Amino acid sequence: MHPIHPPVVEPCEVIQGLRCKECGHFYEKDSPVYVCEYDFGPLEVVYDYEKLKGKLTREVIESRPNNLWRYRELLPVESEPEVGLYSGWTPLVKADRLAAELGVAELYIKDDSVNHPTFSYKDRVVSVALSRAKEQGYRTVSCASTGNLGNSVSAHAARAGFDTYIFIPAGLEVGKIVGSLVYNPKVIEIDGNYDDVNRFCSEMADKYSWAFVNVNLRPYYTEGAKTYGFEIAEQLGWKLPQNIVVPVAGGTILPRVYRSFRELVELDLVEDNSPRFFAAQAAGCSPIATAIKEESEVFRPVKPKTIAKSIAIGNPADGYEVMDIARKTGGWGEDATDEEIIDAIKILAQCEGIFTETAGGTTLAVAKKLVEQGRIPRDESLVVCITGNGMKTQEAVANHVGQTHLIQPTVESFERNCLPMDEAFVPEVGAVGAIV
Ligand SMILES: *Cc1c(COP(=O)(O)O)cnc(C)c1O
Ligand SMILES: [Zn+2]
Repeated sequence: MHPIHPPVVEPCEVIQGLRCKECGHFYEKDSPVYVCEYDFGPLEVVYDYEKLKGKLTREVIESRPNNLWRYRELLPVESEPEVGLYSGWTPLVKADRLAAELGVAELYIKDDSVNHPTFSYKDRVVSVALSRAKEQGYRTVSCASTGNLGNSVSAHAARAGFDTYIFIPAGLEVGKIVGSLVYNPKVIEIDGNYDDVNRFCSEMADKYSWAFVNVNLRPYYTEGAKTYGFEIAEQLGWKLPQNIVVPVAGGTILPRVYRSFRELVELDLVEDNSPRFFAAQAAGCSPIATAIKEESEVFRPVKPKTIAKSIAIGNPADGYEVMDIARKTGGWGEDATDEEIIDAIKILAQCEGIFTETAGGTTLAVAKKLVEQGRIPRDESLVVCITGNGMKTQEAVANHVGQTHLIQPTVESFERNCLPMDEAFVPEVGAVGAIV
């Protein structure tokens, strides 16, 4: 089976153009803009949902291969997608042991720690951005990254045959750096934090005609994040969860999951049950969670200081949209300290066998707090968004897990070093279950 099925309506008939989220100004398809010319507002892709109604059905989607292009009519790529043929469709794990630990009835983990090929949610946005870059004829791709985006751009670009420049803040985890370098892009460490890298990349995008996936391809890139939400709904049996906790860095994924649910409602693919959206940040970088908690209209950019480096963005591009959605859906925002993040990583591993990175630890720690605060009702369904893999941020937990036991290869050495005396397993001859 080919990994991509034909669309039910030609994408060029469905994709209409771009619209400013601030002032609503409409830009024709293929206009060379990526922010509004009037107010620098972010742009979003406009689709003609009427054309899809009754045609893009549950059955059509379910008949397609298990990758993110099963929702291709709702993604902004007109030609045959060439990137991300195996990305997406990650497990939605019913987490009963974790539910018991948190004291909630119905808990799911949407597990992008096993996304293909670079183990984070970024494989979704990059699949869409680089497919778009291909159809627009770009030869060089680039990004400003906190680590995972660089990994994903490097891997997808290698397969698609682009030249690649990755810009990251200095001092990222080894796993994140090697996880880009292995694909042989140029990796440039900037002496500064992510917000400095981002500002620099905007300047570079004016000068170089490269596809900066999260700068000049941003309106297209962000659309890829919707697939995380489409999958949750489909995997719940075409239902929306009642509560969802989402990590917030630049604020891309939370509003796109919200938008994905709205689109499914618009197309009559799910019933609207008004899910509450909760924003999770690390205490060392929580401009949005803080503004929500203070019930403030504005957020104050911060200088990040947290082990959760993948979500350490002090001045989030889509921060206001996150605040708006958390508020109007009856959700909230919370943050977690580095210690709480480490504890949550261990709880998820020990309850469900899932090793997430620091961003996932943040999200779970925040979910736990929100349940304790009563903001997430214990008897309602809850999805916790796990967006990255713990193998990339091992240094965060290395000193907070148990130790190995070094022994001689003898039974005597094992029993002396590894078993507490009173727990040593000495089978009684003839006892039930014992080896005789
Ligand atoms: C990038 C990232 C996020 C969220 O980033 P947004 O910019 O808010 O979409 C969350 N988790 C991980 C692991 C990430 O790499
Ligand atoms: Zn505008």
